[in-house]
Amino acid sequence: MPELPEVETMCRGLAPVVGLQIQTVRFPKSHLCDIEMSPSKRVFRRRAEGRSVTGVRRIGKRVIIDLDSCDSVVFEPRMTGRVLLTEPPDREHVRAVFGFMEPDVPSLSFWSSRGLSTLHLLTPERLAAVIGPDRLGPDALQITADQLCERLRTSRRPVKVALLDQKVVAGIGNIYASEILHRARLQPETLCHQISRRSWRRIQSETVAVLLEAIQAKGSTLRDGNYRTASDERGGFQDRHRVYGREALPCLQCGRGFIRRIVQAQRSTYFCPVCQRAPTSS
Ligand SMILES: [Zn+2]
Repeated sequence: MPELPEVETMCRGLAPVVGLQIQTVRFPKSHLCDIEMSPSKRVFRRRAEGRSVTGVRRIGKRVIIDLDSCDSVVFEPRMTGRVLLTEPPDREHVRAVFGFMEPDVPSLSFWSSRGLSTLHLLTPERLAAVIGPDRLGPDALQITADQLCERLRTSRRPVKVALLDQKVVAGIGNIYASEILHRARLQPETLCHQISRRSWRRIQSETVAVLLEAIQAKGSTLRDGNYRTASDERGGFQDRHRVYGREALPCLQCGRGFIRRIVQAQRSTYFCPVCQRAPTSS
């Protein structure tokens, strides 16, 4: 968290800053540990101040703000980070503030309560080295069924765990992996090499379907309340989760199964034991 739909929603909410010129970059003082950041605050400021924003885009689970110098500001919210165009929830956890030349435009704040977020200013070369195609798989909205199948068909990992691997496919996290596999009717412990080409096609098409629906609903804000949009709204997709967080509740698809929670690679996985079968029986 946040995953592709939440970060995509953040990016769309930041569209108003495109074309604006950055006047100041501030890193408010706090007793908290600094978040992971590069370059130094002094160099960051020197390279960003006075620059105009040429675009806002998403790479995997990161928000990218491109500058007219060709540098990019890369925000990685991780668990609790927010990129806000509104007043942050408190001053203490504000990690960076970008002020703009244009009057009447709110500042952009990077707020992170647990300090796991990262902030980098990268040249195009560094950007490619850090999160280019060698480091991140194709985006989950772009990957084809053949690509997904090629990347995983010999893997002996459980499919749920493999879908979280950002080197395989970028953007899927713990919530959407469970939702995708439920819709694709695949048991999450199924080993990748046991999955048929037909099932990979189903996984790919349900990936796109779930993620687009979630983007339309502005992502999922769980009970922890961590995720908010750039304009400080809750997402709406949490009310449409079919399995995630629904342990012991009846399956919304078949009405016969009760959602089970298991732990895979230290993360909770939710599935319906009735509609998600092993691939041999599908
Ligand atoms: Zn079911």
